[in-house]
Amino acid sequence: MTLILGLEGTAWNLSAALVSEERVIYEAESTYKPLHGGIHPREAAQHHASELKNVVSRALRGAEKEGFSLKDIDAVAFSQGPGMGPCLRTVATAARALSLSLKIPLIGVNHCIAHIEIGRWRCGTKDPVVLYVSGANSQVLAYRSNRYRILGETLDIGIGNALDKFARYLGLSHPGGPKIEELASTGTKYVYMPYIVKGMDLSFSGLTTAAKDALDTGGEKEDICYSFQETAFAMLTEVTERAMAHLCKDEVLLAGGVGANRRLQQMLQTMCSDRGARFYVPENKYLKDNGAMIAYLGLLMLKSGNTTPIEKSVIKPNYRPDEVEVMWRKKRKL
Ligand code: AMP
Ligand code: MG
Repeated sequence: MTLILGLEGTAWNLSAALVSEERVIYEAESTYKPLHGGIHPREAAQHHASELKNVVSRALRGAEKEGFSLKDIDAVAFSQGPGMGPCLRTVATAARALSLSLKIPLIGVNHCIAHIEIGRWRCGTKDPVVLYVSGANSQVLAYRSNRYRILGETLDIGIGNALDKFARYLGLSHPGGPKIEELASTGTKYVYMPYIVKGMDLSFSGLTTAAKDALDTGGEKEDICYSFQETAFAMLTEVTERAMAHLCKDEVLLAGGVGANRRLQQMLQTMCSDRGARFYVPENKYLKDNGAMIAYLGLLMLKSGNTTPIEKSVIKPNYRPDEVEVMWRKKRKL
């Protein structure tokens, strides 16, 4: 059996987990909550620095209760990017220290791919088109010839970020996505929102501006939230469907924190049913940023001979998923 300790802390959630081939053994976390406004990278990093010892100790104690000890850990995996520089640096420093002191390999993991792989694991989907929607990212991806290829993505801000910005304008605290979802559920009237899809790419910042304008000119907040969601999620569903059509794929996997949204899930489910395809979404705790996904991808990487020497463990705030050569999936003929 292989046991991996995974550390996640790219943005606001700090999390440590122990994972084996069979299961997630234990996960502990601590979430930074901004007093006002959005996530401040330096404050979030400060939060992670002060909580790291506590979170890692809780994860280790939890694993101990399950019969595992420190010496059973085979490697330590960490989010090498993408993410906020100060947050990444804090977590990478802890991971390096753990790897050196426990004398076990270090594995730098791409955070986006970790979202994909935990979804594939938990849902049992083989070769899906992936819709990855989080605070900072919005991408449509699929595996082809040893890499996760980015087929389409946002040209400006991530959908989560767009929702959070509008929520702040409404005076709601971070994270705004779930609060917008709640308000949208009682909205009925569609107000105009810009629907921006360019080929396979998307743009969301105009939506936030339009929503603010609609509010300033007397629109009902429930109707605006409803219209915002309908527009943004239809855009995402359209691009996901086109990726499936082009690649002849019949599975969709939803990943990332915005994936918790029931309306988005419903639209994707409807689109998949209409095409005779299958739609997969993991439990909410594996949609948001979590240490288990980092440990799990670390496990796949370790087993395929992929570790990260300390001198190559520098953080990558703009790390793109298609930079990673996927060594843990069987080669498929083109
Ligand atoms: P992540 O970056 O993957 O941790 O996801 C965080 C983002 O997900 C934030 O922008 C949240 O506002 C957003 N989010 C979380 N739950 C929901 C929801 N139910 N509907 C829409 N957005 C959500
Ligand atoms: Mg994420």
